[in-house]
Amino acid sequence: MSFESYDPGRILMGRIPKGADLLGFLTGVCAGENIRAGTIEALGAVEMARLGFYDQRRKVYTHYEVGGGLEILSLTGNISVKDGAPFVHAHAIFCDASGAAMGGHLMEGAVVFACEYVIRELKGKEPVRDFDTDTGLMLWNFKKED
Ligand code: ZN
Repeated sequence: MSFESYDPGRILMGRIPKGADLLGFLTGVCAGENIRAGTIEALGAVEMARLGFYDQRRKVYTHYEVGGGLEILSLTGNISVKDGAPFVHAHAIFCDASGAAMGGHLMEGAVVFACEYVIRELKGKEPVRDFDTDTGLMLWNFKKED
């Protein structure tokens, strides 16, 4: 079985203060509220973004930073458990003043200007990340335990 079924839990709506780390703040909310499965969406603006790209051949993340103030057009992510703690995996699309978009795997280091988020908690078996040898990534392991 490659999936689990979940029931809806709480829905949290919140605002991230100026100057906070975008990914770090969202992870902190999940840890503080003990949300161990769920989804995240957010929009707003950042002073700068730090994004990653997974090099499939070398199996490492490369990252890049973009400054100058950017809109967060869309942030989408999920919450699961890695190393026993809530872990947020998020991707985001940003744009600059010309409307040109850029995006990637959200890394720590994106500085919030203003941001509104919604977290949807899911209730059920904790989705746990394990090392996947095929990809070199920490992926959900939904294998049946019997
Ligand atoms: Zn990713």
